[in-house]
Amino acid sequence: MTKNIKKVAIVGAGTLGAQIAMVVASRNYSVTIFDKEAGAFDTTIDKLRADYREKKLNPSILPLDKWPETRQQVRQVQKIEGAVEDADLVVEAVPEILELKRSIFKQLGQLAPADAILTTNSSSIPVSRLEESSGRPERVLNTHFYMVLEGMNMADVMGGNRTLPEVLDTGVSWVRSLGCVPLTVKKELMGFCFNRVWRAVKHETLYMWGNDFVDLRDVDRAWMIAYGNHKGAGPFGMMDHVGLDVVYDIEMSYYQNSKDPKDYPPEALKRKIERGELGVKSGKGFYSYPDPEYIRDDFLSTED
Ligand code: NAD
Repeated sequence: MTKNIKKVAIVGAGTLGAQIAMVVASRNYSVTIFDKEAGAFDTTIDKLRADYREKKLNPSILPLDKWPETRQQVRQVQKIEGAVEDADLVVEAVPEILELKRSIFKQLGQLAPADAILTTNSSSIPVSRLEESSGRPERVLNTHFYMVLEGMNMADVMGGNRTLPEVLDTGVSWVRSLGCVPLTVKKELMGFCFNRVWRAVKHETLYMWGNDFVDLRDVDRAWMIAYGNHKGAGPFGMMDHVGLDVVYDIEMSYYQNSKDPKDYPPEALKRKIERGELGVKSGKGFYSYPDPEYIRDDFLSTED
């Protein structure tokens, strides 16, 4: 039997955790959020709002004029136990570091109600690598959301080694209830469904840039011409939105899994991160913000 979800807790209020919290709250679930940085939720929402205004984006899943009211519906707490102690479902959205996620899953296993479902928003780590830490391997899931407030209303859903079928079904129904399309993965696959496709794009384009084969702007121009310009960016612009530190951690996660040198992220990416060039969130990444080249009228011009 699928579980009735009413209370949702989110751990991690960065780019993804904050967006998930807003969408869940807008669908009338009770939402609590915890981040180790006290002001993280407000900081993230303020940045996203400013960025969307700049890009003239008004997400249909949660229009900008509804944000202030929805934001009030998300209860921010200062301790993880305050967020999860009566939750029906918990979403972990902390950085892509296996040991960190394991330590959070261990705490969730101890602090959340015994029948609560624990999900990870990891971009690459199958939940099977976290299930033992949770102490409840039959009640864990990958629910990998995308930039849902940007209109990417979908989530990969995948179980672990021992996830009960009804827990997977509950995850799928819950994702649908948020106005998101569930992309169910039938057997374990690193990167899940669409995120594996996006990872291949990142990996290939980083290789081309990191080894100085091409100008990254040409890759973005080609992408925008080939696949449409509705998101206002090609792969490098999109990676700026994701956060270059997050992209790096995901690439490292693939490398640690395969130990194949071809999976190692380019040194040039590491150097950008060391210089604090993290993308939109720091004002500079592959492009400079708030006025990146790719939103200018002449970016796709045929003039020399
Ligand atoms: P982020 O760096 O923007 O946010 C992470 C947040 O976690 C920060 O606010 C940080 O303070 C908090 N945090 C760190 N350690 C913590 C702890 N011990 N307890 C509580 N909070 C802690 O990262 P993000 O982009 O939101 O990514 C989060 C997860 O979602 C990652 O697994 C990432 O791979 C995945 N993801 C990211 C994107 C994206 O586009 N950024 C898309 C899909 C999935």
